[in-house]
Amino acid sequence: MKTICPHTYARPEATIQHLELDLKVDFLSKTIRGTATYSLNPTVAEKIYFDIHSLDIHSIWINGTYATTDFEIGPHDSLLGQALSIRLPQNTLSLTIHYSTREEAPALQWLNPEQTTEGTHPFLYTQGQPIMTRSWIPIQDTPSIRITYGAKVTLPSDSGMMCLMSARNPKEKSQDGVYQFSMNKPIPSYLISLAIGNLSYQALNDNMGVYAEPVLLEASAWELEEVDQMMHAAQEICGNFLWEQQDFLILPKSFPYGGMENPRLIFITPTLLAGDKSLVSLVAHELAHSWSGNLVTNASWNDFWLNEGFTVYLERRILEMVYGEETAELHAFLGYQDLMVELDKSSEKPKSTHLKLNLQDQNPEEAITFIPYEKGYFFIKEIEKLAGRDTFDIFLKKYFEDFRFKSITTEQFLEYLFENLLDPHKISFAAEDWVYAPGLPQPFFLPLCHKFKIVDEAIPKIVRADAKTILDTRQWETQQWIYFIRKLSDNIQNQDLLTMDQSFGFSTSGNSEILFHWFLNALQSEYYKTLMQELEQFLTTVGRRKFILPLYEGLIRKGEYAKAKEIYTQASKNYHSIARNSIEALF
Ligand SMILES: [Zn+2]
Repeated sequence: MKTICPHTYARPEATIQHLELDLKVDFLSKTIRGTATYSLNPTVAEKIYFDIHSLDIHSIWINGTYATTDFEIGPHDSLLGQALSIRLPQNTLSLTIHYSTREEAPALQWLNPEQTTEGTHPFLYTQGQPIMTRSWIPIQDTPSIRITYGAKVTLPSDSGMMCLMSARNPKEKSQDGVYQFSMNKPIPSYLISLAIGNLSYQALNDNMGVYAEPVLLEASAWELEEVDQMMHAAQEICGNFLWEQQDFLILPKSFPYGGMENPRLIFITPTLLAGDKSLVSLVAHELAHSWSGNLVTNASWNDFWLNEGFTVYLERRILEMVYGEETAELHAFLGYQDLMVELDKSSEKPKSTHLKLNLQDQNPEEAITFIPYEKGYFFIKEIEKLAGRDTFDIFLKKYFEDFRFKSITTEQFLEYLFENLLDPHKISFAAEDWVYAPGLPQPFFLPLCHKFKIVDEAIPKIVRADAKTILDTRQWETQQWIYFIRKLSDNIQNQDLLTMDQSFGFSTSGNSEILFHWFLNALQSEYYKTLMQELEQFLTTVGRRKFILPLYEGLIRKGEYAKAKEIYTQASKNYHSIARNSIEALF
């Protein structure tokens, strides 16, 4: 049986081209029910295969006619879900699947009003990446198949909620609860997304804006003020923005990621709202995905670095253009530290540190380490250095132009790289050593930037003194504080940590990155005991996996298994299934 990638039952001989959804959303039963109608690419195949997971399939219509015996549902696989195979009579142009979702659908998070900021309305959002779209739409769930889609979504007319998708979106609530959507650019299934809640819209400029719960709208718009400049920078580097409109949606706190690059509607964690625009690198990252990821997409999750390595590279180029070279360097250095820790951790399983992965029988969720992001970044950065920036930039624009709205493999990228950059410019570079071998091809050392040297000099003065009176740290950036906290050795006395905490207010910081790093550091010593209340508060309100997973790990490492379990029991209702699965694997 030939499938298209390791994570789909779909086969290349029969594929979909366009999807039309007609869905009713019921918050009481926590289900979505309706139809999905597909236009097919011309095929002579006798069967077409879809991926489904926790879906109830009611009936299937061919070319608009009821057909009863034409489908089969395969055995359940805990990773892939089930194969839905449908016999195709000759001349099948379209088929319609009547289906409903189940409450446990892993892509869907149904939040009760008290899990939102305003506490007045429920909330629903989807997270499709990597292979969960199949749990709310029967789909050929592989990034190598791109489709356009349209949708009609009906909410109860008196719900008072707004419905949004990764498509052309409304700016106001509809009176009758019916919303229409269209995405006329071909996208992979993992980028089809939906969000429903008590939302309002504020424009940031002619083609950018933000959706948030009304109480968060003003703060969100303020925090995102600089996206305009970022968009200009991104277009200068990558070429024209081809998605017409770019809005942001601020999700409730349970959102498991920092951001999700859904086209036209980037999902963003509310932990972004630091009140000082200090965490905007996340926004630059998601924006960059409009090119790397959404325009040119990894053909399978084995090629995930193509999405993320390029995006981290572009994120830092955008930061450099908007905030200066030094800011980009601060980010790159912290990324380098993350990469070194990851490589160290992975020494037992060297294959997981290849850029090109083999995720057969593995959940692609597990590929979300610093390898595709940071090793990917340093790989692209190395190519840029060898080619020179001007030459590289010409290549980069042409790359996005030549592969736009396509899904490509690592092998296609390498071939293109040699043909269009390395060979014509006679650059000798062992690109394969980066892609198909573990670790880094040669040890390299990133020089420390000036702002981190300042931190290094300050550390001995800060530790063991009421530092605030001695040092002026008001100009320090978030990355400097992270570097500082990471540098604190584990043999510092609790009393000194307490003094530092009182001086700088780490454990009460509104900046989620600083707060997270402070908790993580406290779990290196016994100081965490002093912070237990704050830590518990953080874990029960934030659902971002990047933060909470290492903190649970830290608690367990400290022998606080029972405490960790107790917090988790209370907090898990606020976590998305992605975060829950990772944490439950720890227990
Ligand atoms: Zn990303």
